[in-house]
Amino acid sequence: MGIARVALPVAVPHAFDYWIPEGLDVRRGSVVRVRLANRSSLGVVVGIDSASEPGLRVQPIDEVIAIPPIADEILDLALFVGRYYQAAPGLALELAVPPSCKARSRRRDGAGVADVPQLAPASHALNPAQRAAAQAILDARGTSAVFMLHGVTGSGKTEVYLAAAQDAVERGGQVLILMPEINLTPQFELRVRAALPGIRAVTLHSGLAAGTRRASWDAAASGAARIVLGTRLAMFTPMPELALVVVDEEHDDSFKQQEAVRYHARDLAILRARRRGIPVVLGSATPSLETWARSRQGRYRALALPARADPRASPPSIAFVPLRGSRTQDGLSPPLRDAIAQRLARREQSLLFINRRGYAPSLKCASCAWESECPRCAARLVVHHAPDRLRCHHCAHVERVTRACPQCGNVDLTPLGFGTQRLEQAIRTAFPQARVARIDRDTTRSRGAFAAVRQQVEDLEVDILVGTQMLAKGHDFPRLTLVGILGADNALYSADFRATERLVALLMQVAGRAGRAGLPGQVIVQTDFPDHPVYRALATQDYAAFADELLAERELAQLPPVTRVALLAAEAHSRDDVDRFLASAVERAHALAEGAGGIEVFPPVPAAMARRAGYERGQVLVQCPRRAPLQAFLPRWRDALVGIGGSKLRWAIDVDPVAF
Ligand code: ADP
Ligand code: ZN
Ligand code: ZN
Repeated sequence: MGIARVALPVAVPHAFDYWIPEGLDVRRGSVVRVRLANRSSLGVVVGIDSASEPGLRVQPIDEVIAIPPIADEILDLALFVGRYYQAAPGLALELAVPPSCKARSRRRDGAGVADVPQLAPASHALNPAQRAAAQAILDARGTSAVFMLHGVTGSGKTEVYLAAAQDAVERGGQVLILMPEINLTPQFELRVRAALPGIRAVTLHSGLAAGTRRASWDAAASGAARIVLGTRLAMFTPMPELALVVVDEEHDDSFKQQEAVRYHARDLAILRARRRGIPVVLGSATPSLETWARSRQGRYRALALPARADPRASPPSIAFVPLRGSRTQDGLSPPLRDAIAQRLARREQSLLFINRRGYAPSLKCASCAWESECPRCAARLVVHHAPDRLRCHHCAHVERVTRACPQCGNVDLTPLGFGTQRLEQAIRTAFPQARVARIDRDTTRSRGAFAAVRQQVEDLEVDILVGTQMLAKGHDFPRLTLVGILGADNALYSADFRATERLVALLMQVAGRAGRAGLPGQVIVQTDFPDHPVYRALATQDYAAFADELLAERELAQLPPVTRVALLAAEAHSRDDVDRFLASAVERAHALAEGAGGIEVFPPVPAAMARRAGYERGQVLVQCPRRAPLQAFLPRWRDALVGIGGSKLRWAIDVDPVAF
């Protein structure tokens, strides 16, 4: 007899009581099947009260799933996630339930579908900077040191991770390596296998079949797998001998889950490592300002790899060319066209980066002001070719391309701006002899498509590569010597305070694709604002100076990471409902924040995208110089909001939000 407290995957802040029938072995962490409102559901036992007698209306546990109970470490991590990120504990605990116990979730963790490429890269003897970094990590074994490994693109951060991982494994430990994108895991896996033969490594991400994922999970939990490579969901993998955690590209926003349970896997990595007393390495060419600030305060230890690792490689040369007033043709400036032609003549490769898929960002009438707009979102419809359609990139809306302006009847409708399709077409027109490939979400939907193009580039079957940020990270092509950056100015107009930080990270990564091996690299940026700090940082390749400056600005503006923020986001079909809800949310927040350690409540504003998929969206920001008062305030605020929005309104609290 006794009572089990079971967290169920429903949006309530508490667990439910069930009685334990004779003969069932129920423990803390057991995954059980129970009934809730006459529906069968899986749940996780979070506590047991063996003394207590069941009340009259309490139901029994129906079944204990035949898997080992979730380890305390993972259970506690998930419960922390529930508390800290203001999520229902049962939803947070779903993250800790092994895959294939539950119905397979369709949520994606990073773009693309992975496939294993053929070529195993060579590993190297470490250079002095790499050796010093690796040694510092080894010396910290058994302590909860946090390292910021700041290494320029191509500096060989991976070899440092692998050296530290090898040491940890040789001493009987396990290593967890997190990366932002599914597409990066096959490359990394190959490097692990080449560098550490005989060590069992498994991967974990949402692109794997449930059975494969489960096998990886079990191998990690039993200790059979010594290295786990994965995306953010791998953060919850049980690893009894975990001795080192690595977060590669730690600045990447895909570590933050943006819906349901809004956790940040990098931050959880730091927490999990601290609780275990093991080191964690945060690697990036452009560390997040959160990480940067803490390293400046001396709380994280900074390790630097200031130069490219390949002794033949040198930093790329970077040029800015204006669009205004130049003889730009089809979006291509004369210097960029010339540079591409030179590469073709030398049988080298070029990469043209534009961060918009489709043909053109919108369709416009030349005689009145009409522009193609999504009827359900505050967004333009994007022109796509083959098939010719107007598509919304924020909801499922698709329509045929109108021949005539719906407003004035004029038939002179023009696509406005450039997307990857249009750039590809322009390139094919300008260089009919070149072999061109495009990589964006439209061309890589099917399984293996990304890896196939990647392989073609590696095999020198492609001269010019056109694509979005899918190409920016981690891919190493020795004959790629030119990177053209187009349309980046658009990102300068963003209202998000992190826009410049993100743009620099992206541009430095893209630029880092040029000239990785012996051939010198060149980067051409088409911009009308070459003096903007973002481009200055790119030109000087001095991320430290840029980050220090940005941090000083955040200090002045009292923005994260200097302060802590949380966002209340609400949406409903009626703008009035949203406004009313947020107004009373602000009122209640003011009452609760009274004397609560400097919590500032901002007035309600529309979301950056004010309408999406038919929902009107608004938000309220709360800010505090310190974490603790905000954490004390948030659950009280959340409780005060329950029920006031009505059934037609959806709301959520996002702690440490990365998108607004
Ligand atoms: P990062 O992740 O820092 O961008 P990588 O780890 O991918 O850099 O390394 C960049 C390139 O340098 C790779 O081709 C890698 O094989 C090579 N490399 C790494 N370390 C060394 C070294 N010590 N000597 C020579 N080449 C190296
Ligand atoms: Zn018109
Ligand atoms: Zn839409």
